[in-house]
Amino acid sequence: MTTTTAPDIASIVRQVIAELKNSATTVPAARSAAGGGSFTGHHGIFGSVDDAVRAAQEAFEQLERLGVEGRKKAIAHIRRISIDDAEELGRMEFAETKVGRLEHKIEKLKVLGEKVPGVEFMKSEVFSGDHGLAVIENAPFGVIGAITPVTHSLPTIACNAVNMIAAGNTVVVNPHPSGKQVAAEGVRRFNQAIHRDIGIDNLICLIAEPTLDTAGALFNHRGVKLICVTGGPAVAKAALQSSKRAIVAGPGNPPVVVDETADLDNAARSIIYGASYDNNLLCIGEKQVFVVASVFEQMMAAMERAGALRLNAQQVDALTKRAIVMAGEGAHRHPVPCKELIGQDANVLAQAAGAVGREGLELVFGETDNDNPFVPTEQMMPFLPFVRCKDADEAIRLAHESEHGFRHTAIIHSSNVRNMTRMGRLLDTTLFVKNGASVAGLGLGGEGYLSFSIATPTGEGVTTPLTFTRQRRCTLVDDLRILGSADSISH
Ligand code: NAD
Repeated sequence: MTTTTAPDIASIVRQVIAELKNSATTVPAARSAAGGGSFTGHHGIFGSVDDAVRAAQEAFEQLERLGVEGRKKAIAHIRRISIDDAEELGRMEFAETKVGRLEHKIEKLKVLGEKVPGVEFMKSEVFSGDHGLAVIENAPFGVIGAITPVTHSLPTIACNAVNMIAAGNTVVVNPHPSGKQVAAEGVRRFNQAIHRDIGIDNLICLIAEPTLDTAGALFNHRGVKLICVTGGPAVAKAALQSSKRAIVAGPGNPPVVVDETADLDNAARSIIYGASYDNNLLCIGEKQVFVVASVFEQMMAAMERAGALRLNAQQVDALTKRAIVMAGEGAHRHPVPCKELIGQDANVLAQAAGAVGREGLELVFGETDNDNPFVPTEQMMPFLPFVRCKDADEAIRLAHESEHGFRHTAIIHSSNVRNMTRMGRLLDTTLFVKNGASVAGLGLGGEGYLSFSIATPTGEGVTTPLTFTRQRRCTLVDDLRILGSADSISH
């Protein structure tokens, strides 16, 4: 395996775009084995939304002809490349985006290759009765438009592609501009391998130079039948206001409650693992912790025992001033994380706080009031505010407030089922994890399958191939059902 640096990818992308511009005036590429393909040879990289959607539509029609076997083969290549090239692509993603932790960039690619559901999720339903049969099948939409975040650029694209192709769709992606190079490299590798095997190019198409304008063009393109958006508040709002059906994997701000019945050492280990994963870039990652007063100091000690660095009040203040800034005007003014510190290492945060970090430090934490801006802000960096609460009721109430009604993810450490139930009901989140790290909610250390797009405001939950289907019913009146008397057949 060769190691490619970010500048190499940039030059590859420039070269591909130059080739695309030239190809507009040259003869169409050879027809592929799957029986079509005027865009064959692009390997998914496009300079315009129009071309990308046309190529994805062509690929969709070719995929339909190959049936479920074709989908299985295509997905197998995305899985294989995600696993085999994880090291190389993970390094590229880390070098380009400059956020998170290298080992987790690599791991995210590997786990998606193993844990994202494919065609095995595609089940049909049958109703059989006196009047014959009705079969309900899950059909593809066609071309899907996807918007992906910088926090997991290629993993989100690969995961969406597995789900969407399993359901028979194709996809055009407008990636985050700060993760476009690794996105292009991954998409090129997936398409090349798929084309070589089943003769279809461009099952996954990518806008090489993504902007808000190209995102808007994709949202409004008549060839795009469904939108899938993974990102923060602005893009989630734009998708919800779009005239097309949208699947929206929006922002989170996951609170943790620790009550007096919790196993504090397990709670500390779990919180550190979840909140420090990829330097707290995950939308499901622990962002603020509410601990009941009777075990507050013991919990802080457990955090230190488990390896996190506790900041004192002065250091927390210094970090807050550096890490959280105000954005927006008038009534819309609100705290946001400072861009330079998003996804940075715990040692960088320790230094910003005026504390001394250490080799291998994963998380810094400290006591704050509930009105510290770290509490309501999705900070996406490995510092956690810990708020002391009178009792479990207060902890659950403050957790609820801090989640802003996103209904994304919440975590509790407790052995009191009443507290678990109360919190589950009040916060009403898509993922609710008890006595484990947040990532257990995606099947990593817990049960269930994985996706990097968790549809929250639109309600589809952890996305699967079925998320990207439309139901079609086929009814046959009176015939074909083999139960019943032979005399009842009239002809
Ligand atoms: P971001 O919102 O800055 O960008 C996400 C994507 O939306 C990018 O491709 C960006 O170019 C595009 N975009 C932004 N504003 C837009 C607009 N007005 N119109 C069209 N496109 C627009 O988010 P990010 O920093 O890349 O990712 C982090 C955010 O995403 C966090 O809020 C996190 O919670 C969320 N997220 C959610 C999930 C989930 O599954 N629910 C998964 C990953 C990330």
